[in-house]
Amino acid sequence: MPGIPVGISTCLLGKEVRHDGGHKRSRFCTDLLSKHFEFRSICPELEAGLGVPRPAIHLREHADGMRLIETKGTGDHTEAMQGFIDDVMPSLANLRGYILMAKSPSCGMARIKVHNEEGRVVRRDGQGMFAEALMKHYPLMPVEEEGRLNDDQLRENFIERVYAYDDWMQNVAGENLSPKALIDFHTRHKFQILAHNEAIYRKLGPLLGDLKSQTLEAIASQYLEQFMEAMTKRVSRGSHVNAMQHLMGFLRESLEQEERKVLTEQIEAYHRGEVPLVVPMTLLRMAQRREPVDYLASQKYLSPYPDELGLRNRV
Ligand code: SF4
Repeated sequence: MPGIPVGISTCLLGKEVRHDGGHKRSRFCTDLLSKHFEFRSICPELEAGLGVPRPAIHLREHADGMRLIETKGTGDHTEAMQGFIDDVMPSLANLRGYILMAKSPSCGMARIKVHNEEGRVVRRDGQGMFAEALMKHYPLMPVEEEGRLNDDQLRENFIERVYAYDDWMQNVAGENLSPKALIDFHTRHKFQILAHNEAIYRKLGPLLGDLKSQTLEAIASQYLEQFMEAMTKRVSRGSHVNAMQHLMGFLRESLEQEERKVLTEQIEAYHRGEVPLVVPMTLLRMAQRREPVDYLASQKYLSPYPDELGLRNRV
């Protein structure tokens, strides 16, 4: 199976494209994610024609807007970068996510230093020029900085969003859009939405309740916006407990009294932070596998991404 197409800052793959000829290899990306993702690597500075090695650049706020200027000197690479961004952006429409290098005036997602015309730091809330354009152009695409992927919860959340967005792009977007495709997608992700954001979960059902109230495209667009907003919210232990208890209700018939007791104990142990999510989730999956309940068979919540990623061992 081809991997899921995901964009990445080239230096994170260990390629020596940084201004000083170095790289910023991310082992998580090269050793693990590369088995599941088909990376489309982009080094905006290199591809905008700045070469390697090249002078370091930073963001400077000018009267006419933000500019990419050499840190030592006055060389201005704003137009070159903008030209590259305009050329490349349409070709990124098939990506299901993007992993960006932090702290870069081109790739940094947030907290980038902004300088004044004299070169002094005036604020630290800028965005890299390429990263900003990417997030404006594809506001629903999951985007994360590599450094933040060291946080177990942020990592799990990002990967889950990439797989959910991939499901949408493969099965609902574009020519595949139909009432059935939309309803099936919602059905598959119901428990995930419930765990992430119960308020949005309660809105999405009614939105799909009358598919004739607006064009299907309009409903799908509102749905996806709210779905991705819900998925971006981190799931608390309490919310997972709530979703797992709902699931357990559907499996009541297939659980012996003793199994129910063990599952309840493990859900409670997870709630207290004594065992990771994978423990009660595996018990739920075992029960579903032994006596499948149709409604649960397609639930992505039970298996949102490949087990080999090991993400639920750490949350
Ligand atoms: S941070 Fe971005 S621009 Fe800088 S070397 Fe890495 S890929 Fe290239």
